[in-house]
Amino acid sequence: MQIDLKSSGTPAKPSRQTLIGLDRPGIAAALRETGLEEKPAKMRANQIFRWLYHQGVHDFADMTNLGKELRASLSQSFDLSRPEIVERLVSKDGTRKYLIRFAPGIEAETVFIPGVGRSGALCVSSQVGCTLNCTFCHTGSQALVRNLTSAEIVGQILVARDDLGEWPSPSEGRKITNVVFMGMGEPLYNLENVLTATGIISDGEGISISRRRITVSTSGIVPKMHELGERGQAMLAISLHAVHDDLRNELVPINKKHNLAELLESCRTYPGASNARRITFEYVMLKGVNDSDAEARKLVRLLAGIPAKINLIPFNPWPGSPYECSSWGRIEAFAEIVNKAGYASPIRTPRGRDIGAACGQLKSASVKKRASELRRERQQQADTSS
Ligand code: SAH
Ligand code: SF4
Repeated sequence: MQIDLKSSGTPAKPSRQTLIGLDRPGIAAALRETGLEEKPAKMRANQIFRWLYHQGVHDFADMTNLGKELRASLSQSFDLSRPEIVERLVSKDGTRKYLIRFAPGIEAETVFIPGVGRSGALCVSSQVGCTLNCTFCHTGSQALVRNLTSAEIVGQILVARDDLGEWPSPSEGRKITNVVFMGMGEPLYNLENVLTATGIISDGEGISISRRRITVSTSGIVPKMHELGERGQAMLAISLHAVHDDLRNELVPINKKHNLAELLESCRTYPGASNARRITFEYVMLKGVNDSDAEARKLVRLLAGIPAKINLIPFNPWPGSPYECSSWGRIEAFAEIVNKAGYASPIRTPRGRDIGAACGQLKSASVKKRASELRRERQQQADTSS
């Protein structure tokens, strides 16, 4: 486990370590460094863990089951500051996009997508920028600035929950029910921090979002996939986007290193995958590039034997992007072929378009519902532009 003791969101108080982003053993180790004996350090770590991640407190002064003196000395040694929301945009569809500053010049986006019924997903970033250069992805056109620490990953959830007024961790009627690592960056290139963060997020005494509701999306970093399943027990999503190596080499260049056969073999052996825990395959719909019926049929053949569902993502254009989104009719025809073969193939409704939020992240309901929503949106757009 990697422990991030350095505060990176509070340049004004660089001498104090942050406790945010530490799990129980991490907090206990930090307390030991201040001179606490092993047993009390462990006990206090459990209490502090609950205050931080269940109650969401910002201040040691609020930790009422710790003695006054201890609280004062802890606040001398440790920092509990959140990263700063520097921009907050709310879409007319309820999607919220936060631009979060972790340290000067270190900013990433987090998106809250209220979903169907009572569920909602928080889409978190794992890196600032990305080393990979997927040709359809805006993040891919930005160089990697750096990995986010576990504190910064967990910090995204804390500030979103602050904004949504979701403390203490509710047992029912939650706004954030799912966490998806589908924001900026490639999570498997920052695996240690992602694993530490998922451990904290899923701990039942804290934020308490079960591992079945945490999805990590990867462009296909094959050597790290097994470890993610083994140690993180997270749900897996694969950014597939093409069914032939030559096209995938172009769209998702990491394919030159780990090709389709290798990637799919790694999915077949992903720890914990089952019909109840399917692997999601993300497939961005690019007009005239990867959206033919023949490609839909090939997709079905490729996934044989893998407990899978397929998320079709309408391409979200960005300034200078070299692609167009497939027509709705084409997306529906593609979805139907995949669906008829027995795979759930929801079309991800674009969310938060008016605020420029990332592509929709919802794991969704039925194709029909999604398709009808898309048609309605399209109609609304046509109405407003006429
Ligand atoms: N780096 C990881 C996590 C990002 S997840 C990965 O690639 O899986 C974000 C998802 O949105 C990925 O499936 C990505 O391929 C997809 N995506 C990126 N740019 C997009 C765009 N312009 N329109 C639609 N989907 C896009
Ligand atoms: Fe990076 Fe994922 Fe974008 Fe590819 S799709 S450039 S891996 S963030």
